[in-house]
Amino acid sequence: MTRTVSLAALSVLFLLAHPPLQAQAPAGDEELPVVHVLATGGTISNTEGDRLTGEDLVRSLPGVEDVARITVEQFSNVASGAISLSQWLAMERRIDELFQERPDLAGVVVTHGTDTMEETAYFLDLTLGHCRPVVVTGAMRRATALGADGPANLLNSIRLAVSEEAREIGVVVLMNDEVFPGREAVKVSTSRMHAFRAPGAGRFGVTDPDAVFLERTVPTRSCEAPSFDLSGVEELPRVELIYTALGADGALVRAAVEAGAEGIVMAAVGRGGTTPGQREALAEARENGVVVVLSSRTGEGRVPVARGEGETGALLGAGDLNPQKARILLMLALTRTDDPDELRTIFRTH
Ligand code: ASP
Repeated sequence: MTRTVSLAALSVLFLLAHPPLQAQAPAGDEELPVVHVLATGGTISNTEGDRLTGEDLVRSLPGVEDVARITVEQFSNVASGAISLSQWLAMERRIDELFQERPDLAGVVVTHGTDTMEETAYFLDLTLGHCRPVVVTGAMRRATALGADGPANLLNSIRLAVSEEAREIGVVVLMNDEVFPGREAVKVSTSRMHAFRAPGAGRFGVTDPDAVFLERTVPTRSCEAPSFDLSGVEELPRVELIYTALGADGALVRAAVEAGAEGIVMAAVGRGGTTPGQREALAEARENGVVVVLSSRTGEGRVPVARGEGETGALLGAGDLNPQKARILLMLALTRTDDPDELRTIFRTH
């Protein structure tokens, strides 16, 4: 007689042997701090044709049981370009809930695709009202590649999250042994291991094999309340991002207004310049109540907040925020106000 074992029965046997980390009270040495890993996908999870789970990633870390007790949660398992704005809201709420419900939690590590990691990190930085570490990390090489960087990045992120130095660090990005503030981290290379920088500012710190070093101070956020309180916000305002290049006319600006944009961020040239055709369309957009912000496509430096008005067609400049980060700040600012003075203050102080 042949005996068939159903897939369900096999799964039960597997689960008995490997209980899911998130369902457990954190296992391990009770003296050790607890870290929650929130896995979202990205190259760190990629193998040929498949994606590892957060549990797979944690289980592959040598020596992690000597560093922290880990719980794991699979938030999503997608390329980071596929993370939606409603998932951002859900992610912020989930991390907020974890910190509220688990005073024992030293910190959260978010595994994330590197392509949009800088955006998620800044979004969380602006919306979480906690200072416990949230370390966003990923990998430039997939899990099965020669010299895969994911395991080291993840283990270093856990080490950072439990370190004394990082107790009030808030949201940071950790890649390739380097730590960057969530507000400042920018992906600057499509494929190199040292793909992250904080242009104009430099890294925040490093994780060496023996210790974690924070090398400079970073302006702190309130640990009591978020910069932007999203309770009650179900959807973020539509803010479009438009590039300036020679000869560009106003078609994309007009299309954004037509699509219902409440705000437009320009990836402008230099210190906030656009083309004559774009300027004309931006001025029309402003007359229709759309908030226009000038950032720069250059990659480093400021567009003064006072830039705007007059001939630019814009309301304000984005300071040192790159276009994709300026878009996040504008989306969040518009949940609170469309008053020009308040918006300028927000851009000067975030
Ligand atoms: N395409 C990947 C992503 O999800 C790239 C990465 O993780 O490095 O962003």
